[in-house]
Amino acid sequence: MIVRFWGTRGSLPVALTAQTIRHKIANALVAANGRHFADAEEAENFVENHLEFPAGATYGGATACVEIEAGNGSFVICDMGSGLREFGLDALRRCAAGHERTYNFFQSHLHWDHIMGFPFFAPAFDPDARIVIHAGHAEAEQALRRQQEEISFPVPFDWLRANFEFVQMEPGVEIAAGGLRVETMTQHHSHGSYGYRFTDEAGRTIIFSTDSEHKIDKMKAEAAFVHFFRDADLVICDTMYSLADSVSMKEDWGHSSNIVAVDLCHEAAAKRLVLFHHEPTYEDDDISRMHQESIRYEALTRGDSALEVLCAYDGLEIHL
Ligand SMILES: [Zn+2]
Ligand SMILES: [Zn+2]
Repeated sequence: MIVRFWGTRGSLPVALTAQTIRHKIANALVAANGRHFADAEEAENFVENHLEFPAGATYGGATACVEIEAGNGSFVICDMGSGLREFGLDALRRCAAGHERTYNFFQSHLHWDHIMGFPFFAPAFDPDARIVIHAGHAEAEQALRRQQEEISFPVPFDWLRANFEFVQMEPGVEIAAGGLRVETMTQHHSHGSYGYRFTDEAGRTIIFSTDSEHKIDKMKAEAAFVHFFRDADLVICDTMYSLADSVSMKEDWGHSSNIVAVDLCHEAAAKRLVLFHHEPTYEDDDISRMHQESIRYEALTRGDSALEVLCAYDGLEIHL
């Protein structure tokens, strides 16, 4: 399986400012320390191998959209954040090269940051496309139609040419889609949200669990999540806030910390955790610091098996 991250930010898309880019370039020039580069490729190798990730790159600013390529031919996508626009353009290129035009969406919930990419999803205009939208919420179609009402957007939903199907998922009822077995689970979030557990034919498992508040002082109540995450090869987890924020001013905002995500993955004996749904006010350096803290905390609290902690960025691709 291949997991591609098209949007990793939470709540609101963000972009780098001119000042931030100047700051990154200036620091890179200082780090190069007069070194000579024969061409751009050599310079790029230096950036990749000698600079820390936030010094030479960015986590990106598109909101939640993750693709799972299971290898059976149809597309599988979790959430329609602003990253969906880029995915749609790439999907059209792949369809032109012969890829099947079936899109299986799995929606965590219908908050704006998780559906805002849909009006810009070019395959929705393809009359040969089949778009199946799975959601725990019964209002998925209503939410998509509403964001394209004339007061909000110039192109109404009814102008879209693809063939749409809406499927309501129920916790405890497993379905098959895109070559995967899929289960869902309700999560603690404003108006509720749903996590998904995807298992391929080889038994490899990916969890997509965003916009979900776990309480570090009520870990016993989290037993259902430990079961849902059990032995997962990859867990994509809402880690919007630092622990300090999540237990103080941002308690009950419906999101979790990197620390509680590590605890849950340890209990569940998961193999890899991906930090996801980054706070829009965090700079690249802040997200990187949180990633390093998570790695240190994991090493300190590790039991028998190690958990690898990765940090999602727009463009990250993980091969399982
Ligand atoms: Zn969100
Ligand atoms: Zn939300």
